[in-house]
Amino acid sequence: MTDLLVDCGLGVTALAPLLRERFGREPVLVLTHAHLDHMGSAHELGEVWAHPLEHVEKPAPGSLHGPTLATQLGLDALPPALLTARPHGDYDLGTFRVRPVTPARLLNDGDVLDLGDRRLTVLHLPGHTPGSIALFDAHDGTLFSGDVIYDDDLLDSLPGSDPEVYAHSLRRLRELPVRLTHPGHDHSFDRERLHHLIDAYLR
Ligand SMILES: [Zn+2]
Repeated sequence: MTDLLVDCGLGVTALAPLLRERFGREPVLVLTHAHLDHMGSAHELGEVWAHPLEHVEKPAPGSLHGPTLATQLGLDALPPALLTARPHGDYDLGTFRVRPVTPARLLNDGDVLDLGDRRLTVLHLPGHTPGSIALFDAHDGTLFSGDVIYDDDLLDSLPGSDPEVYAHSLRRLRELPVRLTHPGHDHSFDRERLHHLIDAYLR
């Protein structure tokens, strides 16, 4: 059996020791894409898998200072500090960097990840980023969607984003028998909400 972790947060504090405590061993890390809030702790883990179009070896540097990150991402405005809590009192936001990783395995559309007790199919669903992927369990209809879809405004104007490609990916996703989506942000949602969110974007 293989334990699999989907994305790993900002990495402002060490994640690997907690994972070893939780699982008794290190899980494989699948990165849905290379944004700072999804791959911050990736450098701590030995086995990282990602799509070849996602440049986890050369990620954007990232920043926890809102104005700096807004400039990097071409966004209008972000709050001055992007953390609401610090890992320790003298944690310096200015030291934050996204550290590169070398993927041990490249994941392509249609690849099946056999974990022993469940099988997850890799879906390449670009648009948010060129190499964005989701993992789909066709047996029970569970989707781990990363930032392909979540219950908020979908970001499609970041460096590497492509709204037309994004729309194509969402049309494809709408045709799949997804029952439950666990997104990269906010709460999980059912098929009805998934279709509502997709349709709202496509309009
Ligand atoms: Zn993202």
